[in-house]
Amino acid sequence: MTAISDVRIRCGHCRAIFACPVAFRDLETLESAVAAGLQATCPSCGQVVNCTMKNMMWRNADGSPGGVSA
Ligand SMILES: [Zn+2]
Repeated sequence: MTAISDVRIRCGHCRAIFACPVAFRDLETLESAVAAGLQATCPSCGQVVNCTMKNMMWRNADGSPGGVSA
């Protein structure tokens, strides 16, 4: 497994970045949830965000950023 932490989502509607409501601890679990249609409600604009690997970011175990901010 690839350990990750601090998973965040970038809203495609208002560009706000907010913490993922589900705490993922490894990249494989995150990818599975995204493939299954993970959604989150943006706390800034209230719209439902369809999570993809292109609008999410996280921190890798070594402290480096992963996802869209990388
Ligand atoms: Zn938003």
